[in-house]
Amino acid sequence: MILKNIKQLVTFEGTTAIEGNDPDRAVILEDIDLRIEDGLITAIAKDLPEEGEVIDCSDFTLTPGYVDSHTHFIFGGNREDEYRMRLAGASYVEIMAAGGGIRNSVHHTRQASQEELVESGRKRLMGFLENGITTLESKSGYGLDLDTELKQLAAMEVLQAESPQTIVPTFMGAHDIPPEYENRPAEYLDYILETVMPRVKAQGIARYVDIFTEKGVFEIEESRDFLEKIKAMGYPIRLHADEIEPLDGAVLAGELKAVSADHLLKISPEGIASLKQAGTIAGLLPLTAFSLKAPYAPARDLLEAGVAVSLATDYNPGSCHSFSVPLLVALSTIYMRMNMLEVLCGLTINPAVSLGLGEEIGTIEVGKRADILLHRAPNINFLPYHFGVNTVELVIKDGVVRLDRRKSHVSGE
Ligand SMILES: [Zn+2]
Repeated sequence: MILKNIKQLVTFEGTTAIEGNDPDRAVILEDIDLRIEDGLITAIAKDLPEEGEVIDCSDFTLTPGYVDSHTHFIFGGNREDEYRMRLAGASYVEIMAAGGGIRNSVHHTRQASQEELVESGRKRLMGFLENGITTLESKSGYGLDLDTELKQLAAMEVLQAESPQTIVPTFMGAHDIPPEYENRPAEYLDYILETVMPRVKAQGIARYVDIFTEKGVFEIEESRDFLEKIKAMGYPIRLHADEIEPLDGAVLAGELKAVSADHLLKISPEGIASLKQAGTIAGLLPLTAFSLKAPYAPARDLLEAGVAVSLATDYNPGSCHSFSVPLLVALSTIYMRMNMLEVLCGLTINPAVSLGLGEEIGTIEVGKRADILLHRAPNINFLPYHFGVNTVELVIKDGVVRLDRRKSHVSGE
């Protein structure tokens, strides 16, 4: 396949995370061609000979496929009633009393069959694809028991086999304390370590392990003890850190050399220094802050300290039922004061590295997999300018056109 007369191609380069999402390291090419063979990018040059399928790109801006390094997209049931209550002013306690909260999702995920989880997951994957997300991380954590956690991970495995997207599975049994272990978080973590993890490991169905480090859920010392044991089992770790209360989860993440520390709304200066020193990627989730009307993570402080930042949807049934990349871009540029090149870095190479895929994806370069988005836009600055509108018109994943909206797309361009 040849992508011909590309109006503008914007990418970062390399296989490692870009510290501070340095916009000076972006590469912007214009009036260029790109060749794809056997799913890989094999040439980027002017005036390539036309061979195979030729796509005229004279109206398109090209970026790497988006990489979403934080999602919870396998779950049973929806929680729109709870969201309605929240909009009407109900408190968290009132919502919990009405049967809401994460336990609502746990209840419905336990009841769902694996086939039902696959079916709902399949529809959601199409939504991710329409947003240009060609690779996504996926966490378990709505079972909080052996069978349901394994069922969630098995559903991801089924979807990986049939879906064009790359799905990176993360075990997150430490997402909450299940009713069976009410007020006994340490005992529940022991259950995970002794009963659940050996099965997860034997089946080889998770690549990372994550924990919700938060006041009233898993506190710092419990998290540290758990994560040290998880690391000893050979798993790289991720953390939900400093989202609601400032516990210095980011300091812990740096100390344990976590791959990623995510949320970080309440990160301290010490936490920022710790991430920087460890090379831990900061995963920012502005759609969730938006949905909860919470103050956004201090993106500029992180970037100026030289921390590599990724941006992810955090798509989940409770705090963020959205995988809208256009909204994510709007919030990142307007409220987190990131420029579009910093945002692009946070949606491509940095999350690719955080998922261990920096060698294969995250940039448009010869030798990498051809995961490429064609935007109906004359240049990269048009994306934040056309805020809230999906500019993605074609999605190429592993060298194959997986989504083509050239006939149906309605855009202001
Ligand atoms: Zn999350």
